[in-house]
Amino acid sequence: MEYKKNDLLTVTIEDMGHDGEGIGKVDGYTVFVKDTVIGDKVQAKIMKAKKNYGYARLVEIMEPSKDRVEPRCAYARQCGGCQIQALSYEKQLAYKQQKIENNLIRIGGFQKEEIPMQPIIGMEDPYHYRNKAQFPVGCDKEGHLIAGFYAGRTHSIISNRKCYLGVEVNEQILNLVLAHMEAYDIPAYDETTGKGLVRHVLIRYGFQSKEIMVCLVVNGSRIPGAEDLIAKLREIPGMTSISLNINREKTNVILGRKGKLLWGQEYITDTIGPIAYQISPQSFYQVNPVQTEILYQTAIDYAGLTGKETVIDAYCGIGTIGLIAAKKAGKVIGVELNKDAVKDARINAKENKITNAAFYQGDAGRFMVEMAAKGEKADVVFMDPPRAGSDERFLSSVVKLSPKKVIYISCNPETLARDLKYLTKHHYKVEKIQPVDMFPFCDHCETVCELVRK
Ligand code: SAH
Repeated sequence: MEYKKNDLLTVTIEDMGHDGEGIGKVDGYTVFVKDTVIGDKVQAKIMKAKKNYGYARLVEIMEPSKDRVEPRCAYARQCGGCQIQALSYEKQLAYKQQKIENNLIRIGGFQKEEIPMQPIIGMEDPYHYRNKAQFPVGCDKEGHLIAGFYAGRTHSIISNRKCYLGVEVNEQILNLVLAHMEAYDIPAYDETTGKGLVRHVLIRYGFQSKEIMVCLVVNGSRIPGAEDLIAKLREIPGMTSISLNINREKTNVILGRKGKLLWGQEYITDTIGPIAYQISPQSFYQVNPVQTEILYQTAIDYAGLTGKETVIDAYCGIGTIGLIAAKKAGKVIGVELNKDAVKDARINAKENKITNAAFYQGDAGRFMVEMAAKGEKADVVFMDPPRAGSDERFLSSVVKLSPKKVIYISCNPETLARDLKYLTKHHYKVEKIQPVDMFPFCDHCETVCELVRK
């Protein structure tokens, strides 16, 4: 059977795809239906039809799945932030574990029985876990100022100052900022015309330190009534840093290159395990501090350091993993592409009085090739690449350096599977795999993997 746009069909959801969308079949025709979960029987309308499959919109749930729950958030369907809020948390965890396993089998070429996967570690309380939020500011149809989140795959703003993934103080800060904009007649930035001032409100919160950072991203260099705004924001306990970030480009990159401090200091500090980190508006820092601690601890445990090892922390960001490892290793060499992150890593080493860690700026692959060419040795390699995963240049140099262990931290099961396939064909064996849920209600999966040289 073949379907066309606007056809209505009844389908039972049997599987879930990469992005958390439901998948079902009608007479051999596969339909992808966003906002459905396995076990739902739904009516759906085809929005885009291909020969053997199509994308459909949920019209009505005829029989809800036993795993379906009522999302806390009223905007769960429209908002692009979350994908799987309608699925019980327990089943979200099962979905992620399955997704990792499927990728290892399909892309990595592993046999199901040979995957040493531990049960995924979820959160006890999966709400309010994010330490960072970036709210776009705009206007609704009546011209009222709004702040919230982008709808899925678009740049239209859903007005919502109370997101259950973020910290509760976000709402209070947004209320203050928007009231200030109204009082001083400050226009929100308009993406289509490139006019207006306030683009985003970036808020960061240190879960351990309780320090708060507010950064207004503006299409200009100042904010009217700044003193007044500062005075109001300062009343919030923990306020530590208030700044502007200047972004005059017509781009959907959120932050511009230049910052301007309005009050307090340029960074907040937070701790993960034994290490304190300085975090500036621009820095990459894991967004879920509770699970990050578990993630890093698992990585360190897998490494089994004794105090003598030479350790490489590749794709090191601000040095988070390397600095924790430094306390248990002979020396740590970190490499990272982003210049600002490397600067932060060096400051973090100094502030924590760690003298056996050095950080270098550059492409991790090229760096490893040079190390291998010089005949240098490493005992343990931690690698935590971005979603695109690593590359053959890096992986082949790892093989040449022949560390006893490679600890791979991955935020994308597809590229993890691809890279593990390479390493397992080149003298490494996967010893353990530990998924950690860093992003409840979202479709992302984080995994730590221990590889041992055969
Ligand atoms: N390990 C860190 C950061 C992981 S995010 C942490 O846990 O916080 C991945 C990092 O890889 C980013 O900081 C990104 O800037 C960096 N990166 C991306 N491509 C790279 C490359 N080719 N070489 C080195 N680092 C790279």
